[in-house]
Amino acid sequence: MPEGDTVWLACRQLNAALAGRVLTRCELRVPQLATTDFTGVEVREVVSRGKHQLTRFANGWTLHTHLRMDGGWRVYPTGRKWTGGPAWQIRVLMVNAEAAAVGYRLPVTEMVRTDAEDSVVGHIGPDLLGPDWDADEALRRIRADPERSVGEALLDQRNLAGIGTLYRAETLFLQGVHPRTPVGQVKDLPRVVARAKMLLEANKNTHDQITTGNRRLGSHWVFERPGQDCRRCGTRIETEEFGPAGVERRSYWCPHCQPEPDGPRSARTRPAL
Ligand SMILES: [Zn+2]
Repeated sequence: MPEGDTVWLACRQLNAALAGRVLTRCELRVPQLATTDFTGVEVREVVSRGKHQLTRFANGWTLHTHLRMDGGWRVYPTGRKWTGGPAWQIRVLMVNAEAAAVGYRLPVTEMVRTDAEDSVVGHIGPDLLGPDWDADEALRRIRADPERSVGEALLDQRNLAGIGTLYRAETLFLQGVHPRTPVGQVKDLPRVVARAKMLLEANKNTHDQITTGNRRLGSHWVFERPGQDCRRCGTRIETEEFGPAGVERRSYWCPHCQPEPDGPRSARTRPAL
């Protein structure tokens, strides 16, 4: 699933290819937009808001898209073969004289008036990679539910926008916090949030998502490493799915480096780096 840094980079590339240019071909291959054709319209800009993409047009409309689990944007110079998937998976096609932007498998594709974007993204919390990032507001929203697990709170885009299961797992490992720890029991929540932002910032300009700071060590500390040894202490990494019914998401943690809240391991000293 794309995380905030992936969406940020995709929007930067879309913006570079489309902003300030007139579309010479535009196809929105979803039933409700089948008759909408923005050929001849100029794209003003493409911006990300958390994991949402907003393509703003000079005629006062915004195309709102979301990648969800496996959607993706590709930008191809004119004449280059499109390789993002079979043609039937294309939902959005925006072409100008120099480039083609192709949106594959986009489960959310809708048009809203630009001055009404809040109707689709207004509920989203401060964007970790946004120009208006507000750590205090994100912390206020997270702390509003002290009983909730920090693992769920970090994924809730209404609290703060941009964290998926990868950065959740890696952030909590680096801070030594078990994903099921209630928000009210997390010792230094501002550092947890700051760490998540740092990881996203460190990866936003590349397609790699390296959280160890050293590719030779391996890309990740615990994410998608269940049953393998912790890179710090050698303990077997564990995994589970948890969260609200129907939207459970997978978490990963080291039982030694991230003691369970109020559990028997909580008194143990964390190993030195
Ligand atoms: Zn460990």
